[in-house]
Amino acid sequence: MQGKIAVEEHFAFQESVADAERVAGRSPFWPVLKRRLVEFDQERLEEMDKAGIEFSVLALNSPAAQGMLSAKGAVDFCRRANDFLAEQVAKHPDRLVPLAAVPMQDPDAAAQELTRCVKDLGFKGTLVHGYTHQEGVADSAVYYDLPQYLPFWAQVEQLGVPFYLHPRQPLPSQQLMYQGHPWLMSAAWAFGVETATHTLRLICSGLFDRYPKLNVIVGHLGEGLPFMIWRVDHTVTRIRQGITIKKKPSDYLRSNFYLTTSGNFHTLSMIDAMLEIGSDRILFAVDYPFQRMDEGAEWFDGASINDLDKLKIGRLNSLKLFNVPVAESTHATAG
Ligand code: ZN
Repeated sequence: MQGKIAVEEHFAFQESVADAERVAGRSPFWPVLKRRLVEFDQERLEEMDKAGIEFSVLALNSPAAQGMLSAKGAVDFCRRANDFLAEQVAKHPDRLVPLAAVPMQDPDAAAQELTRCVKDLGFKGTLVHGYTHQEGVADSAVYYDLPQYLPFWAQVEQLGVPFYLHPRQPLPSQQLMYQGHPWLMSAAWAFGVETATHTLRLICSGLFDRYPKLNVIVGHLGEGLPFMIWRVDHTVTRIRQGITIKKKPSDYLRSNFYLTTSGNFHTLSMIDAMLEIGSDRILFAVDYPFQRMDEGAEWFDGASINDLDKLKIGRLNSLKLFNVPVAESTHATAG
């Protein structure tokens, strides 16, 4: 399929490379990852061409701003990261689409930075790497269902842009469960558990009753949630334990979420996600450079789903959600 839009693609800049190295530095692929993270003008575009990807929606490496222990530091860092990304995108406006980094340590500042990026720089949303921290406390986690984030969410809804909830590693204090099994603390397992749990916190906090037009994106075909959501519904509708949401958790998954194929190139899982929330809410993504564009594209192009669903997932849904500035003359086909 030509004309695909890939929506969870990463970059790093001078100030975030060391952070990316802390997460991925032990990988045998690190030298290639590093080269690809900081590059915008040649290899990235060539890989996109080879994979039939017209647009890459770009966001910073994980955890970047969310891992910082100083709110002030995160505010300044995000501003520099976003200005840098805006410069790169300005060179390739027909290929790259920017998502803002926001300093969630300070919800008001995060709302302001997102507003600046959307209104002044033409950004199309934000991507946030999971929980953030209390000022100066490394082993602390602040999740975005907490009441101090309500004004931030109000602003996201007001701006009408999506919020991508991207994984990061669980807290050191949660790592007892993973002790002695470092491979579990990775994309293999812990990233998904962390992000799915955060997603359920958002859903069951009543956030989407309060702001029904919010759109949250979750990668990796929903971090396991489509497969588990009936059990969540079944349990929390029988034993409420303080949950006061108006509908079933799965209803919010269908009305307020988009799920992407990033790093989960498995047709049965995609079909499960399509059956649970509908093909209008699934988006193609690779997770470059942590995943290969050619591998993601080869899988998606050959996946056994009908051509209309493929066109929606590969392009049309993202075109609309991110308001991608596509040229009138561009046509895509699923063939
Ligand atoms: Zn990613």
